[in-house]
Amino acid sequence: MTRLVGGAHTDVGQVRSNNQDAALSAPQSVIYAVADGMGGHRGGEVASALALEALSRQLRTLSAVALESVETLVDAVLSANERVFEEARSNTDLFGMGTTLCAVALVGRAPSQQVAVVNVGDSRVYVLHDGELVQLTEDHSLVQSLVRDGQLTADEAAVHPQRNILTRVIGVEPDVEVDWWERPAVTGDRYLLCSDGLFNEVTDGRIAATLRQLADPTEAAKALVSLANAGGGRDNVTCVVVDVVDDDTEPGPAQGDPGATAAALLAADLTEPTPLPEPRPRRFTFRVLAFVVVLVALAGAAWIAIRTWARHNYFVAASGNDVVVFRGRPDGLLWFDPEVVEQTGIEVSGLTPAQREQVNEGYTTSSHADALEFVTRLTTPTTVRPPVTTTTAVTAATTVPTTTAPSTVTVTTVPPGLPAEGTPPPTTVAAG
Ligand code: MN
Repeated sequence: MTRLVGGAHTDVGQVRSNNQDAALSAPQSVIYAVADGMGGHRGGEVASALALEALSRQLRTLSAVALESVETLVDAVLSANERVFEEARSNTDLFGMGTTLCAVALVGRAPSQQVAVVNVGDSRVYVLHDGELVQLTEDHSLVQSLVRDGQLTADEAAVHPQRNILTRVIGVEPDVEVDWWERPAVTGDRYLLCSDGLFNEVTDGRIAATLRQLADPTEAAKALVSLANAGGGRDNVTCVVVDVVDDDTEPGPAQGDPGATAAALLAADLTEPTPLPEPRPRRFTFRVLAFVVVLVALAGAAWIAIRTWARHNYFVAASGNDVVVFRGRPDGLLWFDPEVVEQTGIEVSGLTPAQREQVNEGYTTSSHADALEFVTRLTTPTTVRPPVTTTTAVTAATTVPTTTAPSTVTVTTVPPGLPAEGTPPPTTVAAG
């Protein structure tokens, strides 16, 4: 039968005056957890303890062999969140308290049992599988989101001064999103749950070496806490080591050295050259690249669309004393200024006042032909001067005689005898 066998150790560290971390661990339990509390005078201690108490109470009535499913575990975390939130709301001393929470549990029935992993905050769960240490959880921290966005490297994040700012936490909102994973329960796998007091002080390489060397989970947890204290112990530190064992085979991971003690290991470790940190996979490199490519493509498409729209327009307007056909929007659009397509050779001063007003207001159309037709209407039918194209525009315009087409006077006569009621008496209206 598959079981989880775990051991835990926690310590206040070298700098802090109280320990706000908490661990849930029994030699043989279905569930193991770590919580790292924060907030207020004693809020952190209360938050982490309350969360783990609520978690274990929720699961106490359930089977002692395995939880039904990962949902059972997630539900227990949600009820722990509610418990801490209610307490923080009803007790002013504890206002704003919160805690991280990560847990592993055996779920499902043999032979397809799984190890369920849940996480909220920046405590972590790692697995040592075939001697390789892999981080399973992703921190809900500001620096981790910057790493995900490609703004920080994992190495920069590991020493960032604001790496303790969390983006998700238990107990500060009535509801919380819980990350969860499931892995097959493989005999010999060893899980490590820890607060940030461990991985901020000890490299992954040393953590892995320690987990490989010490067979007993409690001894391994103690050794890791000692390493954190030796590294500075600037925070509370908590480690829970959990082995997947099978009663039908040899218990525990076989690679441990039963003779090694935590103290001996620590002494040995301190004299060893520090191993290089294991390279962490930069999982988001391709995502970032794809994102940039998409962004550039979108910007290009938008640029072309705006330019096309901006240019799909003609207007006739005065440029100085000349009537000119432009392509573009009258006031330009973003950085697309209108361009001259035709110098008509018509002078504004030669137009009737009404035409002058039309030209000064500008005549806008979506068709080039329509613009030219408007220009044609500016001239008398007998003296239509075809527009001159841009290439010859400047010379053509200057050689055009100053006396242009005679002003046309449109006379509209309202026939007498048909006075509409309420309209002014019929008069002769001269345009202008
Ligand atoms: Mn901490």
